[in-house]
Parts: sequence; C-alpha cells; structure tokens
Amino acid sequence: MKQSVEDTLLTTIRTIPDYPKPGILFRDITTLLGNARAFRRAVDELVHPYAGSKIDKIAGIEARGFILGGAIAHQLSAGFVPIRKKGKLPHDTVRVAYSLEYGVDEMEMHRDAVSPGEKVILVDDLIATGGTAEGAVKLLRQMGADIVAACFVIDLPDLGGRKKLEALDVDVRTLVA
Ligand code: AMP
Repeated sequence: MKQSVEDTLLTTIRTIPDYPKPGILFRDITTLLGNARAFRRAVDELVHPYAGSKIDKIAGIEARGFILGGAIAHQLSAGFVPIRKKGKLPHDTVRVAYSLEYGVDEMEMHRDAVSPGEKVILVDDLIATGGTAEGAVKLLRQMGADIVAACFVIDLPDLGGRKKLEALDVDVRTLVA
C-alpha cells in the first residue's frame, strides 16, 4: 500500500534533541531533502492547491525556505524572491525587525523584488512561534504584495505560529504537525 504523504514526511524528518541548545527538539529536514521521493512529495503537496492559479512570486525565508521555495517556484512557473538575514543582499533593501524566541533580529528583501499587487506565496520549512514568518509578511506587504498563502512542511502547533499568521489574515498551509 502506498504510504501517506504524512507518513512519508514523518519518517524522513530527523529529530535532534538539544540542538542548537538544551531543551530544543530540532526538526532536521535535510534527511527529507536527501530522499528523492519525500522531497518530491513534499513539494507536490505544497503546490497542489495552487496548480493552475497565477502566482507571480515565491518568497523563501533563508535558508531552508530557499530550497523548498526554489522547487515550488519552478513547479508553479513563478519567480523566486529571497528573504535574508540583514546584510546579505547586495542591492537596495527593505528591512524589518522580527521576534525570535529570545530577542529580536532583522531580515531584508530587495526593494524591487516584488511589485504592488503581485501574488506571492511565502515558504519556509517550519513554523514555530511565527515570529519569522510574521516579519516576512510585513516586508512583503510593505512592498504591496498580495500574499496568497504561507506554506510550511512542519507546524509546531503548541507554539502558536499558525494562529499568529491567521490573525494577520494569511492563509496557512502545513503538511505535518
Ligand atoms: P519561528 O519564528 O519561531 O516560527 O521559527 C521558525 C524558524 O526557525 C524557521 O525558519 C525554522 O527553520 C526555525 N526553527 C524554529 N524552531 C525549529 C525547530 N524546532 N526545528 C527546526 N527549525 C526550527
């Protein structure tokens, strides 16, 4: 019998206890990405609802959002926009501060990466508190993007990220919790 998408993903995501610090269960998707079948299924499942719709850009959050986002952009014939930690992009940028579990950081996007009214899907590997994705939503909306959805392979529902994005009127799609 064919394994469900959820089972395929759950069996290929590796969990590393106490990384990067004690008490954190790190969900490592490099094992999923290294498995051709699991990588394809994750990408197929994330793009499925948007096949045939006009999506202008996929915005991927550094760094794992670049890998998934690039594959998704290719499938949907969309452009790709990198959202990066501050200081990494070479041209004129817009910047936003976002909250991490402890403290704040800043992320950037090229000012000319998205035009007003463009339909954009935001992509990252995992949503936890939602602070990172919330920052990305702010950046994209600042440039006038129409955010169609935010897609993640993994949801950590106890940390409330999905609810945070939904409160901003963002449609959230995740594959496993
Ligand atoms: P947050 O802003 O709290 O939603 O955190 C999401 C970002 O941090 C994503 O870019 C994830 O890759 C990373 N992240 C947070 N928690 C974990 C975790 N337990 N395992 C792997 N990555 C995580």
